[in-house]
Amino acid sequence: MEPTTVWQNCLSLIKRRVAAQTYQTWFEPLIAASLEDSSLTLQVPSQFYYEWLDSHYRPIIIDALRQASGKELQVRYSVVLGDVTMEDPRPSFPTGTVENNGFSKSTQLNQRYTFENFVEGAGNQFAKAAALSICQRSQKNLFNPLVIYGGVGLGKTHLLQAVGNKVLANDPNTTIIYTTSEKFTLDFITSIQKNRTTAFSKYYRNVDMLLVDDIQFFQKKEQTQEQFFHTFNDLYQRGKQIIMTLDRPPSELSGLTDRLISRFQAGLIVDIHPPDLETRIAILMRKAEEDGLDIPYDTVEYLASCIKSNVRDLEGALIRLLAYSSLRRQEITLELARTVVQEILGKKATKSVTVDEIIKLISEDFNVKETSLVGKGRRKDFVYARHVAMYLARELTGASLVSIGLHFAGRDHSTVIHACKNVETAMAAEPAFQAKVDNLRKGLTNMVF
Ligand code: ADP
Ligand code: MG
Repeated sequence: MEPTTVWQNCLSLIKRRVAAQTYQTWFEPLIAASLEDSSLTLQVPSQFYYEWLDSHYRPIIIDALRQASGKELQVRYSVVLGDVTMEDPRPSFPTGTVENNGFSKSTQLNQRYTFENFVEGAGNQFAKAAALSICQRSQKNLFNPLVIYGGVGLGKTHLLQAVGNKVLANDPNTTIIYTTSEKFTLDFITSIQKNRTTAFSKYYRNVDMLLVDDIQFFQKKEQTQEQFFHTFNDLYQRGKQIIMTLDRPPSELSGLTDRLISRFQAGLIVDIHPPDLETRIAILMRKAEEDGLDIPYDTVEYLASCIKSNVRDLEGALIRLLAYSSLRRQEITLELARTVVQEILGKKATKSVTVDEIIKLISEDFNVKETSLVGKGRRKDFVYARHVAMYLARELTGASLVSIGLHFAGRDHSTVIHACKNVETAMAAEPAFQAKVDNLRKGLTNMVF
């Protein structure tokens, strides 16, 4: 049987079982790529599609396949990104590590992580530049080791794997191992249990580049650290590149031996900060585009201004929004985005407040006349209050940057972005200011019912 025939039959079965919008969103775009004895491979437009389909509709697909083909077929996926195909993306971190020598040959890199789809912003620029420079052959060993640190979900793993992917693309013969400190530890323990410590050393030392993610898990594991230290030294002395990530500044790692930490100083330590508003908008737009989704710009802006903590949450919000729209059979709108954000941040965060109400409150609280607050005056106290008003408007009203700008003497959207950035920076630097803004927000969100 032809894969397309089987799939067409499946589709007509699925169509009867799911909502129309769900069908259009998740099933219509799929292409049956091949049919083997026991499996049908579906081409999906993105990793996200695949994950969503697999976690939500696998039983329905399997069922339909059984009916359509008359036998038990498994479903496999291949993600087609433009002209690049990535087979079966799920086992990006294969767990079956036992091979002849006890360790997998696979580099365990996930091709989804590239420099091309890493959105650059003030918070990650330096880290990205450092990572990128390592990929240039002539620059090799310029920063060795490179240590990237920063909070959860800020793109450390993404950057680390992007280096691996790029170096491999430049020279497929390079031997690269991507590992996490947990896997390294596990491999080490296993090697002791199975009397294979030599194989272990060989495996980790026989590389041109070693990428170790989340080294904070090495904390307090002395024996493993010792092993890592030897591996590190061996690679380092032979001029092999080592890149590591961790979730806090190296100085705050307790229980990591000083000599290991002092080794890091020989290279470059860079940090990643949370993305600012513009970067968050850019990341969301990029994700939407990657997934072929048409999301209104005001909605993107709204999500970006509400979800600030990290990029993973931002992606989560987008996925949730899509899920809602598909499950409730609603278009993606600002209203729907509000619901999603409310759920993520808790109810308080998004009472409907108007820009005018915010202007009024800020004017009273900062003792600046409303006309001055929204006017052109550049006096310091006006500007200060104005920035806070714009920031809160952006966060609480769901009004677009453009329309907020219009409330403030027709300023353009970049001015509003600039204001939001200033406020975010000031809040990060001054806890007292942060508390003030939090209080104002509370006042505003409790005010309206
Ligand atoms: P970390 O390792 O720092 O916890 P990840 O690298 O796993 O974070 O990033 C979390 C998610 O956010 C990933 O899906 C990643 O692709 C995405 N991401 C993070 N930063 C960016 C960025 N600057 N541009 C695009 N995607 C990003
Ligand atoms: Mg990570």
